[in-house]
Amino acid sequence: MNALARWVRHGRSLVFFAGVVLLLTAGHRLGPSSCGAAPLETGVKVVPASAAATNPLYTGNREPLLPSPLIKLPIGSIQPKGWLRHQLELEAKGMTGRLEEVSRWCKFEGNAWADPQGQGHSGWEELPYWLKGYGDLGYVLDDPAIIKNARKWIDAVLASQEADGWFGPRANKTGLKGKPDLWPHMVMCNVLQSFYGFTGDERVLPFLTKYFKWLNTQPGENFGAGYWPRIRFGDNIETIYWLYNRTGESWLLDLARRIHENMENWTSGVHNWHNVNLAQGFREPGVYYVQGKEERFLRAAENNYETIMRLYGQFPGGGFAGDENCRPGYTDPRQGFETCGIVEFMHSFEMLTRISGNPLWADRCEEMAFNSLPAALTPDLKALHYLTCPNQVQLDKENKSPGVQNEGTMFSYSPFEVYRCCQHNVSHGWPYYAEELWLATGDRGLCASLYAANEVNAKVGTGTSLKVAEETDYPFGDTVTLRVSAAQPVRFPLYLRIPRWCGKASVKLNGQSVRVAAKPLSYVVLEREWKDGDTVSLRLPMQVSVKKWEKNHNAVSVDYGPLSFSLKIGERWSRYGGTEAWPELEVFPTTPWNYGLVLSEKNAAKSFKVVKKPGMLTVQPFTPDGAPIELRAQAKRIPEWRQDSLGLVGKLQPSPVRSDQPVETVTLIPMGAARLRLSMFPVIGQGEVVGEWKQENIRQEN
Ligand SMILES: [Zn+2]
Repeated sequence: MNALARWVRHGRSLVFFAGVVLLLTAGHRLGPSSCGAAPLETGVKVVPASAAATNPLYTGNREPLLPSPLIKLPIGSIQPKGWLRHQLELEAKGMTGRLEEVSRWCKFEGNAWADPQGQGHSGWEELPYWLKGYGDLGYVLDDPAIIKNARKWIDAVLASQEADGWFGPRANKTGLKGKPDLWPHMVMCNVLQSFYGFTGDERVLPFLTKYFKWLNTQPGENFGAGYWPRIRFGDNIETIYWLYNRTGESWLLDLARRIHENMENWTSGVHNWHNVNLAQGFREPGVYYVQGKEERFLRAAENNYETIMRLYGQFPGGGFAGDENCRPGYTDPRQGFETCGIVEFMHSFEMLTRISGNPLWADRCEEMAFNSLPAALTPDLKALHYLTCPNQVQLDKENKSPGVQNEGTMFSYSPFEVYRCCQHNVSHGWPYYAEELWLATGDRGLCASLYAANEVNAKVGTGTSLKVAEETDYPFGDTVTLRVSAAQPVRFPLYLRIPRWCGKASVKLNGQSVRVAAKPLSYVVLEREWKDGDTVSLRLPMQVSVKKWEKNHNAVSVDYGPLSFSLKIGERWSRYGGTEAWPELEVFPTTPWNYGLVLSEKNAAKSFKVVKKPGMLTVQPFTPDGAPIELRAQAKRIPEWRQDSLGLVGKLQPSPVRSDQPVETVTLIPMGAARLRLSMFPVIGQGEVVGEWKQENIRQEN
């Protein structure tokens, strides 16, 4: 049975799988008959529920692994355009593209990752973290200079293998009290997977095979050793399946099983509360599901996600309160989410989208990508900070501990080693995202999984190559236009993801409306004979919605489609260190932030006016002035709500709350554009049941 169909079938019996299928009203004739187009498939069968459909056009899962409902296209198949391309170009010109200038871990000279005998400096996670995204950045932009420079490193890694299969830094081989520290190699495996995906270089598969043969000689206890490897070994399981799908060597599956059985037990729940461990570790049972084949594994990944978010993710933006570790009692939106966590969470969601075929994971990926990742970096992508918080009204360099767990500078922007792990690991956020816009489907079709402007070249149906140009300003626009270019007509299913927030999606084919049951959290599937010039127009109308967060004192957040909104706060940027070329920057508020919203009692969403800026999208929409959409709202200041003695925004207090201040009209901008941000608002109330804001711990005046 096709795995997507299996998911759909099982989805009906699983509460957490809200996803559904499709689509066409039986008997409805589709497409303009005058142009001779074959009619769309009618009826409710569009995701094939029959025998093991696998897609021979791309490398999906090989038996006995469960078939892949959605398969990653070879890197380079998708050319990002629009705002996403601009993020990648800024990344290339910014910190990631030039990290060798500022990071001592990325100095080639004497680097243990570049030495044939694995001797030298910087042999831990930093270099692979950076190279993982840096190489992919070159591939998705088709940037010859980056590709060439990444290859210099990769060639050196490939030349470093010992007779027994170990490669790279020799110190890691005995890095844990004489036992191997296996974590940095997990990241380098990702580097090599992408390199192979882009180049097909014939050295990669034998190299990885030899390494995993060495790993296979290790006793099971070594897979449960060390703090980082034990928790993150699911990363290697994914690589092992990737390799197995390309070589068919069955001992690899025994190795994957042994790793699963000896590493941290993520199937039984969450046992470690470190931010990045959570963001990448929680998915492990979902990854193992394709081998374990029991629904409980896939469900465990969902359960882990829900456990984390129920306890610590009670605010908008897609992240959770884990400013190093999650801490009981520290669940206010002023808590932070590490930049490594942002990109690892996105990577997890991308993987789980493909494994499960469940569009909910793609929704979650967009949530992080639009609302959290941009604000983790300066608008020019030349610096980042460690912690991004939904409520974060001042980004100074001073210590915020114990308000946030980590001591030292955490909020201001820097390109330097003060944010050592994130500085390198942030590299893969946007490149990986761009690689996942389109996916091949198990039934030889194509799936528009994440929406952004791009052009994709892919093989479909019986193997015909075609091109689809996707034009859209999404998430700043609600229309996605797909133009098909094909040398000859070809029949295949085209899957379009309908996000969870969209109740009124509509589809046009060659200008004519198609009657589809486009329910939230589903795929619309258009199966027909496609020909050159066919055009699909998908509309995803967005509406304002207001969410009340009971677990955070009944504060509210405001969404418009996939975008969450923050108060627009005036910014004063101030350099405190670094160089002219690589400044370190603090950001201070120049306008008040301590507002509660005045909401319509009958319909809170009606309290907001949507203002769309006319004309072309700005190249960098993730800035206060470049944001293409604003909301206007009524608000009152709460004078007692101030920054605490650490400079952190005061914690939320129960809503509704009284304010005797005048009503003002305030502007809200997308969270991703707001580096100074207030995204969780108290609600202003009237009458006897309304509380008073209690002043506490004041140092600074607003
Ligand atoms: Zn980090």
